[in-house]
Amino acid sequence: MQDHEQIFSRFLAKKGLRLTLPRKQILDAVFSLHSHFDAEQLFDVLRIRNAEVSLATVYRTLPLLLESGLIQHSMRQESRDIYEHIFGHPRHLHWICRQCGSVSETSLDNIMPFLERAAQEQHFELEDFSLNLMGLCWRCKNENRNQ
Ligand SMILES: [Zn+2]
Ligand SMILES: [Zn+2]
Ligand SMILES: [Zn+2]
Repeated sequence: MQDHEQIFSRFLAKKGLRLTLPRKQILDAVFSLHSHFDAEQLFDVLRIRNAEVSLATVYRTLPLLLESGLIQHSMRQESRDIYEHIFGHPRHLHWICRQCGSVSETSLDNIMPFLERAAQEQHFELEDFSLNLMGLCWRCKNENRNQ
């Protein structure tokens, strides 16, 4: 079983790139977070870990991590791009509250076989997807009701 570092260095090697120290520090920070993050939050984690990585390097490295398939672009909220690592995690959908912006998840374990069958029927090679459902979370629903 490969770990995320092996996968990333192999991916970089194919592009003629190396797993430099800043890239490794970013990768480790990404895999220390088991939730959604944006570039600035990732940068904060790197600073706490005393990594000498600039925000510009974070922005340049995120597309590489995306292309390697280790992370996914999960959603866009208030013009921020939100990511999460998917290596080692089950696929899931996001419930996004349009009022407070909270995000919760439901596993796609039951839906994946259906999607794979549907893709086959379309002769479609599925590479990536994300499923985001907008609405009101239970807190906001209760709040609105009590007003
Ligand atoms: Zn994780
Ligand atoms: Zn998620
Ligand atoms: Zn809410």
